[in-house]
Order: sequence, then structure tokens, then C-alpha cells
Amino acid sequence: MKELQQAVAKAYAQHAQAHGGRNADYIPYLADVPPQLAALAVVTAEGEVFSAGDADFAFAIESISKVCTLALALEEKGAAAVRSKIGASPTGLPFNSVMALELHHDKPLSPLVNAGAMASVSLIEADSAEARWQKILDCQRALGSDAVQLSAEVNQSEQTTNFHNRAIAWLLYSAGFIYGDPMEACDVYTRQCSTLINTVDLATIAATLAAQGINPRSGKRVLKAQNVAPILAEMMMEGLYDGSGEWAYTVGLPAKSGVGGGLMAVVPGKLGIAAFSPPLDKHGNSVRAQKMVAQLAQDLGFNLFNA
Ligand code: GLN
Repeated sequence: MKELQQAVAKAYAQHAQAHGGRNADYIPYLADVPPQLAALAVVTAEGEVFSAGDADFAFAIESISKVCTLALALEEKGAAAVRSKIGASPTGLPFNSVMALELHHDKPLSPLVNAGAMASVSLIEADSAEARWQKILDCQRALGSDAVQLSAEVNQSEQTTNFHNRAIAWLLYSAGFIYGDPMEACDVYTRQCSTLINTVDLATIAATLAAQGINPRSGKRVLKAQNVAPILAEMMMEGLYDGSGEWAYTVGLPAKSGVGGGLMAVVPGKLGIAAFSPPLDKHGNSVRAQKMVAQLAQDLGFNLFNA
């Protein structure tokens, strides 16, 4: 295990201060997060933890929350129902694309872009916005850790600027792909993006997926084993939006990014990796997090297509 700690320290040292990218600024809160922050963490399927850098710093989970809500929808509805309503295809377009809806009239394509994520929220069984939100928060905590919490500041920053997402929700609704009130789906989606999580707890979500649905730090089964493969397939196809193809080609691990600067990757059966640093590339993926995770995966020989 000394080898893992050394590999984490090396990948962090090599790329934690890499140049390039800019903080997201369409959400005011994200523009002000110190851009020099960086962290890398590994949680194994046995629950061992290795980290380097600002691994305790809690940042906005953003789009990585889409994986948790997808997981919850799969638990409640099963894979066939979720796939028929939300899709399982790469969009090849930015995460907030409206065009993806226009081009494909039969469904939103992927639960890991904004349109499909809001449709996923509306699929969760609940009789009020609060109940829906509580289930989603509980799922983020069960997959990661109880330390995950809503940030009133991030939420306020997003709820007062999320006009584009509200438009997507109404478009979905008009096409019949929101299974409830569209503004409630958008509100709860915005809240799920506004939780704070640190890099070790993010790696724990990835480790729970690596361990077939059992959170290796709490020891609790969170997901049915059969629901893990569909989640990893979606992550492989769309986890880094229009950067997903290049990521699959060069790294070969299912992963998910968020505009808060977080990134998690799963090595099935073995471990979860997470990295964080705010500056993003043009697709909305953290520049340094991608470099750190790619380096670590390469040094440890993890590529699903190279087993
Ligand atoms: N809350 C953000 C949004 O909906 C999340 C986007 C992301 O992380 N890619 O725009």
C-alpha cells in the first residue's frame, strides 16, 4: 500500500500546479474559489484512504451529483425503465446543450447532462420537493459520506442565475420528458449541484461504485450490484461531456466531472480515484484533475481496455 501512497504523491506533485484553464464564472460562487487549490485521493474497495494536497477542502459537487441521482433512479425504477425514459448515448455536445434535445426528439440522451439529469430528478418517487431533495441528499451521503451538505451560499448563487437550466426544464416538459413539475425538477437539480464535498469523500463515491455498490468506508450496501454497470457505462460515454471520447481513448476509465473542479474515476473491483482543482478546460472539465487522475491511472497500469 506504500506503493499507492507514493503514486498519489507523485501524480499530485507532477500536476497540482499545471497551467491552463479558468474557473467557471457563469455561477458567481465558483468564480471566487481560489484557483491554486488542488487535491488527489484514492479510496480502495477495502476502504483504505490515500491523499495529497487540499484533500479536506470542500467544493461544489456540481455535475458529479448527476451520478448519485441516476443511481437513485436505477434503484427505484430499474435500468430498463431509466434507459427507455432518459437514454444511454453520448451527446457530443456541451453539458447544457439545448440542441441535443432538438436533434433527438425521442428522449434526453443521457442522465449525465443537464437535460437528462433534470428528467432523472423528476423520476424519483416523492410527494413534495422537500421529500425529493432529502432522498437525493441522503443518497449522496450514503454513496460518499455524512459530511456532504447543502451550501446555502452555492445554492443561492445557482438558483438566482440558472435561467438556462429553467429553459431546458420547460423544453423537456413540453416534449413530455419531465415527470412532474418542471420548475420543481430544476429547483431540486440545482440544490443537488450545490452540495459541498471534499476530495476523499468524492473518491469514496467512486470506491462505492468500484466495490459493486458497497460503501467501503461505512461498510453499508448502498446500491444493488446490478445497478453499478449501467452507471459506469453512462460515465464512460458522457462523464466528461464532449471530452468523454478523448478521455476514454487516453485513460480508459469511467469518470465524472463537475464545473466545481471535481473529477472522479472508477477502477472496477479495485478502487475509486478523485481529484480537484478549479480551473476548467473548454469542455468544463478540471485541467489539473484530469492530469492527476490520468497520471495516477497510467502509473498504476489501470485502463479497462488494457487489462
Ligand atoms: N450546476 C451546473 C449547471 O447545471 C452543473 C454543470 C456541470 O458541473 N457541468 O450548469
